[in-house]
Amino acid sequence: MTKVVHKFGGSSLSSAERYQAVAQIVLSHCRAGDCVVVSAAGKTTNTLVKLWESYQQDDSQGFSDILLQVENHQAELIRALFESQQQHTLLEQLDLELQRITSHAKQDTLHEATLLAHGELWSARLLACYLSQLGFAAEHVDARNLFTLHHGQLLHQQNKQACMERLKDTSLYVVTGFIASDVEKNTVTLGRNGSDYSATLLASYIDADAVSIWTDTQGVFSTDPRKVANAIKYPKVCRAQAHLLARLGNPVLHAKTLSPLKHSKIKLQVRSSFDVESPPTEIVKEGYSKAKRFITTFEDLDLVRVDAIAPGEVGQLSQIIQHSIHHFSAQGETFILVPAQSTHRVLKALSGRANIVESALQGFAVVAPSANIAQLQAQAAQLLHEQNIVVRFNHKDNEYALFLTDQAIDSDVLAILHDKLVNKGRELAVVIAGLGNVGEVFVNQCQRQVAHLQQQFDVKVVALLRSKKMLFSANGISLSAWQQQWQNESVDYNNEDLIERIGELDYEHKVVIDITASEEFSKLYPQLVKQDCHLISANKYAGTAESTWYQQLREQLNERSLHWRYNTSVGAGLPINFALADLQHSGDKVTQIEGVFSGTLSWLCSSFDGSKPFSSLVLEAKDMGYTEPDPREDLSGRDMQRKLLILARDIGLTLDLADIELEPLMPDDLAQGSWDEFLARKGELDSFYEHLYQQGITQDKVLRYTGSLQVFASGKAKAKVGIAYVDKSSAIANLTPGDNIFVIKSVWYEDNPLVLQGPGAGKEVTAAGVHSDLYWLVQRLK
Ligand code: ADP
Ligand code: ASP
Ligand code: MG
Repeated sequence: MTKVVHKFGGSSLSSAERYQAVAQIVLSHCRAGDCVVVSAAGKTTNTLVKLWESYQQDDSQGFSDILLQVENHQAELIRALFESQQQHTLLEQLDLELQRITSHAKQDTLHEATLLAHGELWSARLLACYLSQLGFAAEHVDARNLFTLHHGQLLHQQNKQACMERLKDTSLYVVTGFIASDVEKNTVTLGRNGSDYSATLLASYIDADAVSIWTDTQGVFSTDPRKVANAIKYPKVCRAQAHLLARLGNPVLHAKTLSPLKHSKIKLQVRSSFDVESPPTEIVKEGYSKAKRFITTFEDLDLVRVDAIAPGEVGQLSQIIQHSIHHFSAQGETFILVPAQSTHRVLKALSGRANIVESALQGFAVVAPSANIAQLQAQAAQLLHEQNIVVRFNHKDNEYALFLTDQAIDSDVLAILHDKLVNKGRELAVVIAGLGNVGEVFVNQCQRQVAHLQQQFDVKVVALLRSKKMLFSANGISLSAWQQQWQNESVDYNNEDLIERIGELDYEHKVVIDITASEEFSKLYPQLVKQDCHLISANKYAGTAESTWYQQLREQLNERSLHWRYNTSVGAGLPINFALADLQHSGDKVTQIEGVFSGTLSWLCSSFDGSKPFSSLVLEAKDMGYTEPDPREDLSGRDMQRKLLILARDIGLTLDLADIELEPLMPDDLAQGSWDEFLARKGELDSFYEHLYQQGITQDKVLRYTGSLQVFASGKAKAKVGIAYVDKSSAIANLTPGDNIFVIKSVWYEDNPLVLQGPGAGKEVTAAGVHSDLYWLVQRLK
């Protein structure tokens, strides 16, 4: 049974309505044995911090005002959530606790962490009671009985045992985030935003499978989405970058959140409690997502230089001030960035070993792939200069560039920085493989189409490949003069070079469009996916490859949230794959697909009327270029068999080519031998076809060459490509010669099937179909 730890932050519990929404999430996502870690409701911890400050400043009026504020907030939640008896009990409990706080304050025995702990204790109690009121077995658990620290270090073994003993599979546990105790049973905290850390710690202690951090944004964005509307939500962020953001003080995750997950398989995701349907951001291990660009801002910091800092000392300082402290070395010296209101405490703790270099700083850091840092630092400096913002200090290392300024980075400036430094990364690099018939038309259509797409996304064609030569230009190939550039700059092609160069591309997204007629090229797909390339295929090789290989490719794509489009592999530009995907996604179930998916066979069968032998039609078609170089390839039906396999896989069936019965449109023994031998025996083909044709007339039906796939209620399927006799009035019988037709039956389209019909070949429509796949991809990436 999978176990999940869900964490709801203060932002998810800011009002009675939010508690109710969280309870609904718990009801639909949790079961007995799962844990829910909660933070203090809304801004309660901030208020408690203020309460503590007024206590320290002996400001008794301030103290009682703030305490009243705390009381009103809690009482309001209790009144809105609970029925009379329970309401009464909870209000009484609250009252007692507040009285105790007041008397401790009066006796001068108030203790900071114990005071702050109330926020989480209240949330856990309210949520557990509210869930119980809804009939869901839930208990609130005080994490001070689970997590013990000694000299700031967690006692993992002891804690694990405490968790195992306290948390069984009988109930849902609502556990307080943020707080723990020391060996003397004094309350300690894990630092501001520490509930994220509580959740991952707990997950590691109870061997959970996953942690969901529910917050008020839909995941981790390129910058604070509350400040910049264009912030990009990332489906995946690697652990190292998430950790760095946290160390830089970004609130979306606490700095230590990731440490308990090291060496574990526990999955971590960040998702929205306000928009449950929205897909989460997954925080993944290195190698499962490429480094992204982020901007995170700072407010009111002091830059402090420290003589020398012992390992673990920054952690201890963070503990003292309840806030993360970023530290770094520059020009041989150690610096720390401290929230200004806590600097005096830090200086005191460092007793004479530190001095303030700059105070009251604002600023931001750009986090990006190391290869981009130097360039981004220069660009950011230029942008700040243009905005008249004075830089008081800057620093860069491998993973980020830091700017400390004298002016706040407000939303407008942040939006500009984001647009130029991060959104810039919203580029799609397009690699086009295969410049044959369709490929060349595609590239020529690209000029207009790319200009159109560029209004939404920075799309650049960076490579054109033929089997022996390639043109690669990381900054983009000029589409109006690519032939010229090809003449001058193309180099010998080989697979290794291609993969390496694709790996070096610094684009947010990449797509390889395979318009080749090369099965060998399709074998590169797994390597291309490893380089984070989306795929668009215009041929059928990979789509009909042996099912283990195919499934692995699909899984690999899924793991990396990459897309694979291949709409033109069946029916050229006809939107058959779109139609099938649409039906599936909207809850329908396809039960049958029947049709003619070969332009050649469509033309041959529909044109034959007995007035001339079948073989002369075949030769005519060959002369018009409607067939493969050897038309027996068409007559074999193998092409339709492959297409039917693609359609079958599209509706979720796990079939292989061999599972599709194949009956060629010629006598078996004509398949062998040379073309001349075939010509010499073409009479055999004619009598074969004439015989079939006459059978149709006898049955008052029409001979067609069709593919058909039937899916039974059991989930089993029957698939066949071969000769069929269809009713004279049917759509298949009345097909325009050369057209393709797909007749789809589903639960919704049962008696009156959905029919898609039109040209299923031709370089223009195929190239246009590839553009449609590219357009689809761009919409997805936006
Ligand atoms: P919680 O109360 O759930 O712990 P926090 O307020 O601590 O939530 O953190 C979530 C907030 O982080 C968001 O409301 C958002 O304003 C802020 N934030 C800053 N940078 C980012 C980012 N890159 N991605 C997502 N949220 C961010
Ligand atoms: N309530 C604590 C804070 O506001 C802990 C947390 O929210 O994670 O910092
Ligand atoms: Mg938080």
